[in-house]
Amino acid sequence: STMPNDKSTATSGKFMQRRPYSGETTVTATLFPGDGIGPEIAVSVKEIFKAAQVPIEWEEHFVGKTVDPRTGSFLTWESMESVRRNGIGLKGPMATPIGKGHKSLNLTLRKELGLYANVRPCLSIPGYKTRYDNVDLVTIRENTEGEYSGLEHQVVKGVVESLKIITRQASLRVAEYAFHYAQTHGRKRVSAIHKANIMKKTDGLFLQCCREVAEKYPDILYEEVIIDNCCMMLVKNPSLFDVLCMPNLYGDIISDLCAGLIGGLGLTPSGNIGDNGLALMEAVHGTAPDIAGKNMANPTALLLSSVMMLQHLNMNDKADLIHKAILQTIAEGKYLTGDLGGKAGTTDYTKAVIDNL
Ligand code: NAD
Repeated sequence: STMPNDKSTATSGKFMQRRPYSGETTVTATLFPGDGIGPEIAVSVKEIFKAAQVPIEWEEHFVGKTVDPRTGSFLTWESMESVRRNGIGLKGPMATPIGKGHKSLNLTLRKELGLYANVRPCLSIPGYKTRYDNVDLVTIRENTEGEYSGLEHQVVKGVVESLKIITRQASLRVAEYAFHYAQTHGRKRVSAIHKANIMKKTDGLFLQCCREVAEKYPDILYEEVIIDNCCMMLVKNPSLFDVLCMPNLYGDIISDLCAGLIGGLGLTPSGNIGDNGLALMEAVHGTAPDIAGKNMANPTALLLSSVMMLQHLNMNDKADLIHKAILQTIAEGKYLTGDLGGKAGTTDYTKAVIDNL
């Protein structure tokens, strides 16, 4: 790591919410508006938080224009420090700068901050009709290794090699997180998703770790499903699943499939979780360059990510208030953005949510 690690707030509860909320103090959270549509949807979150009187003070950090040598990426050392210090943050999408040697900003954040579990809840939005109205799934994706290790090279002309790294340490901690999540969120089942029939060693080790952790949670049902079969089952009947836990690349793909089941990327939030309650929430979608700066973006995914953030901070009243206002606005259908078939701008939708608070 290129960053000093001064996190000294270690506590016994590995996955605890970092700061039980007393109801009195203001909490400081880091905000990365990000690139593309990021700043527009971040304004929407800020306005809705203000109207809902959420006691959060934002510490805003923008992506730099040059590489900070201390991080090796466009993210400044100060911005990473801010997340570490506050322990909680909300992030807009960031474009991966094209240019050799610069690390992807998202990978930098996940690696440097040790955000090893990516949680992607996917819930049907009542009133927004898709093929299914009963989708209620959570994808938990390993966030640090697998096919995303960035170890690719050409062996000889016409032959390239990409290394998929699976470690016992990373597999155990994401499996632990998945079972802990299931237990604390009233979930009944964890399905480990894999291709261990072919990738016997890598996915085999991942499964072995999931099995070991499953034994510590006798109240949670555990099953193993091969990824191709999992895709078919998800499309045919998503209610067959509850919590899905899987290596990095599978999680990336399956969670977009799940997003498609409920109406698309404009609606799906996520959380990047590390130890001691450290969490950075973000929408699943990217910077949407095709609609950036046009007041067309749907801020729902970032808003639902901010609701996850409030839940993580135990600010459940504010989380419920905002969540209900979002659902009501979508169910009313009067101020939907283009991706949901409406004509409303980002600002119209935001105002409608505020009116429904
Ligand atoms: P994208 O998610 O940005 O866009 C895909 C499609 O979905 C586009 O048509 C876009 O208009 C639409 N869309 C996405 N979010 C929307 C929203 N909130 N409201 C309405 N429509 C929305 O994916 P992409 O085009 O493949 O990627 C663009 C950039 O984003 C790339 O630089 C990529 O690296 C980056 N990216 C970043 C993250 C992240 O920061 N976590 C995630 C994915 C992609």
